[in-house]
Amino acid sequence: MKQLLIISGKGGTGKTTLATAFIKLAEADTFADCDVEAPNLHLLLHLSGEAQISDYYGMDKAIIDTNRCIGCGLCAEHCRFDAISKVNNHYQVEIYSCEGCGVCEIICPEKAVSMEKTVSGRLELYKNDFVFSTAQLRMGYGVSGKLVASVKKQLLDEVTAADLIIIDGSPGIGCPVIASLSGVDLALIVTEPSISAISDLERIVRTAKIFEVDTAVCINKYDIDLDNSNRIQSLCERENIEIVGRIPFDETILEAVNNQKSIIDYHCDAADAVKEVWENLVKLLVE
Ligand code: SF4
Ligand code: SF4
Repeated sequence: MKQLLIISGKGGTGKTTLATAFIKLAEADTFADCDVEAPNLHLLLHLSGEAQISDYYGMDKAIIDTNRCIGCGLCAEHCRFDAISKVNNHYQVEIYSCEGCGVCEIICPEKAVSMEKTVSGRLELYKNDFVFSTAQLRMGYGVSGKLVASVKKQLLDEVTAADLIIIDGSPGIGCPVIASLSGVDLALIVTEPSISAISDLERIVRTAKIFEVDTAVCINKYDIDLDNSNRIQSLCERENIEIVGRIPFDETILEAVNNQKSIIDYHCDAADAVKEVWENLVKLLVE
């Protein structure tokens, strides 16, 4: 069973466009969307059927029992996240700011603080003639690495045999990406020829190396800045990473996204380039 992950340093580089195309080209029946802050793979794939929904509990949050609280203010004083404030003469926790560290519970002399489980999102599992795992993080519950790990676990628990699992990873370079990388055979990094994207690429490459995950690179809109595309090429040569494709800027991609279709449903230069990327990835996956 091979796991292919598609990631990018930031949103909007065409990561999900490629993931959708690969799922279609591979006729994959096992896939996941780990972009838990803004999942949209299901929209582009027009998945049918009802999902099994389960609550996701992230980190515990602090709750103050106002009947026990004597208003000493020690908790607010020691909260490094400024999550506790005095409102109408009562100390209370701002749930979105609480990072669940538990310091207030330890410091409170009256045992007025307790750490309680909170629903931070929901996991969704589709089982039809395909298995698709995804999740939606609740707004303001910002740490999503654990939820990403849960999306993958939910999929792997369900699937005992599949030749290929395609995972649309989280954008960015933080904790969710690290969670996405765990256990995959190959990570395709989708990048663009911009200074910020190159910087993100360098950081993702470093992270993937730490986790000993093989990587390949695809340059989307490579022709909007050939100098920067050449910089990416040099970086990849230096790091011994294969560039599996260069996709030209093509307004058809925008049209496909707006129409909630895959780019490979169109006949255009970008679609041809995406198919070539896929063929090169298959070669790397079977090596
Ligand atoms: S430390 Fe305890 S008693 Fe003091 S303000 Fe906070 S919750 Fe109230
Ligand atoms: S658990 Fe930590 S972050 Fe949350 S309110 Fe208490 S001290 Fe602040």
